[in-house]
Order: sequence, then structure tokens, then C-alpha cells
Amino acid sequence: MIIVLKSEASAADEKALRDLLSSQKIGSSRISGDGCVLYVCPGAVSEDQRQMISGFPFVEKLMGEKREELRCESEGKPFEYGGLLLGRDLCVIAGPCAVQEDQDLTEAAGSVARCGARMFRAGAFKPRTSPYSYQGMGIKAVNMIAEAGRISGLPTVCEIPSERYLDDFTDIDILQVGARNMQNFELLRALGRCGKPVLLKRGAGSTADELMYACEYIFSGGNERIILCERGIRTFETSCRNTLDVGTIASLKRRTGLPVFADPSHAAGSRDLVEALSLAAVAAGADGLMIETSDDPHRALSDSAQAVGCDTLAGIVSSAACVREIAYGR
Ligand code: PEP
Ligand code: MN
Repeated sequence: MIIVLKSEASAADEKALRDLLSSQKIGSSRISGDGCVLYVCPGAVSEDQRQMISGFPFVEKLMGEKREELRCESEGKPFEYGGLLLGRDLCVIAGPCAVQEDQDLTEAAGSVARCGARMFRAGAFKPRTSPYSYQGMGIKAVNMIAEAGRISGLPTVCEIPSERYLDDFTDIDILQVGARNMQNFELLRALGRCGKPVLLKRGAGSTADELMYACEYIFSGGNERIILCERGIRTFETSCRNTLDVGTIASLKRRTGLPVFADPSHAAGSRDLVEALSLAAVAAGADGLMIETSDDPHRALSDSAQAVGCDTLAGIVSSAACVREIAYGR
């Protein structure tokens, strides 16, 4: 970062600046010429520190601002799970939006496994916009998901709504942070210590930077097994439920070595768009997909319009593998 001083800055002003820089342990060198004084700070400067510096009335502007370096960006890497190297081997996670009383979950897990999915997902605590919509079966569903995973042999993924349920999720393999909880910092901190991989969804109104900061809470807390998941953001466009941000998928792949997945279901909102969005995500670099399925969508109490059947899922698994092979040679 370069600090440009106003021409009227006095020696006392410069001393105040140098005192602040040294109290904040920010290294700097002074350059002057043509009546212009600059302080060049080669190291990282945090947003809070930038605000302190630019608050001096004699500071003209800050240039070349550099964001804090995030460990999840510089050190994040693919990791092994469920017989796959996540971040390198394509992985499809599939299953119903929510567990229901009348559902044979073991059959649902077996069915997605036969279609080529490598992990089983299902919701137990559903974050619904309206409190009158189906809220999920809670802890009973968590146990049913774990059981279906055991019988089918697929690792399980389930959204944990709060850190207070960590003990109830002991038998779930991968803990999902829902889009609405992406900035629940207490939950993120607890997941940093939980010892299980985390699938972190991007908030519908969050930037990629905010997603990476959320990821850093978990990573810097000691948990480096994180899957980032783009699930569509809110824009002015209404043709899909959310706008799948494929540009950010490509950009995240350049920012971090952590696995980057996409959830085309919550982006599409309707089943006829799920395959196209899946392939677009994989072409942009997504290492995996999370897809909502249902054998009988007419009975699904949540997100039935976006649930795909087994045939569509099997088609997506094989065409996604072709796209990845053509685009990335793996
Ligand atoms: C889900 O995956 O079931 C879900 C609720 O997704 P999101 O948090 O992205 O809305
Ligand atoms: Mn859903």
C-alpha cells in the first residue's frame, strides 16, 4: 500500500503517521520529490488499519491497497474424503432437500448411489423463509440420514443450523453451513474446532470476499477441510430462483486450492434447468455438484419444483464427467 500525503502535511503530521505505523507494526519507507511525500508499506495492511490511516486529515489517499492475506487462500488445498481427492476428482452429492416422515431414506441413498453420486445429502433442520413452511424433522432426521449413509456406504452431508447441535451431528460426515448462516461467526468458529469437513455455502447476498473471510474463520480455527459452495446469488434477474455465479466459481478456483462446488438446484429453482447449470458450473471449474433429488417430487414438502429424478441425476453425473475431461483433462 502507498500512502500519499497532502502537500501541506507538516513534520509533526508525518511523525503522527510514523507513530501510528510503528504502533501497528506496519513497515514503511518514505519517498519524496516534487513536493510530494509518499510512504510505501510493502506488507499486508488490514481494513481496520487502512481506516485508521486514511482518517488523518493530511492523508490525500491510499493507493494499491492490498487485502489481508488469508491462509485459506494461500494454504487451502484439495483433501481426501470418501475415496476421492476433493478439489481434483469430480464429486456429485445428491439427495432430497428435506427428510420427511413417510420417506424411505435408505432407498433414496441407494438410488443416488446407483446414479453415480458419491455422497448423500438431506436436510434435517430446514431454514425456510416462512415459519409456516415445512421446517424439517430435526434430530430424528439427523439419525435417519446417518443410518441411510451407513447402509448405502455413502458419506453423508447435512446442514447444521447452530453450534449447539454439534453433539447431535456426531454421526454425520460433512457438516453443511447453509447460505443464511454463512456469516454466523459463532457457528464458523465452532466448526473450526469440530474435526469434520465443512461444506460452506455462499450467502445469496454475499460477495466472494465475504465467502473467503467466512472460510478463514473455519480454516484459521484449525479445520482445513472446507468445501466452498456457490448456490446462486440474488440479482435483478428472475428467470432462475437465484443467479448461478459461474464467474465466481472460476475466480475462486484461482484464489484457493480448496475444493469449489456448485449447487445448481437452489440456483435453478426448477428441475428443467438443473442439468444446464450443472454443466456450466463444471465448465467454469467446479470440482463437484450438490443436487437435490426426489423419486416422487409431488410428495416433497420443500423445494419439490427443483428436485430431479434418478434418470436426470445419472445423466448429469456422466455429462459433468465429460465436460470436466474435455475442459480440464481429468
Ligand atoms: C440446502 O442445501 O438444503 C439449502 C437450504 O441450501 P441453501 O442454504 O443454499 O439455501
Ligand atoms: Mn432445498
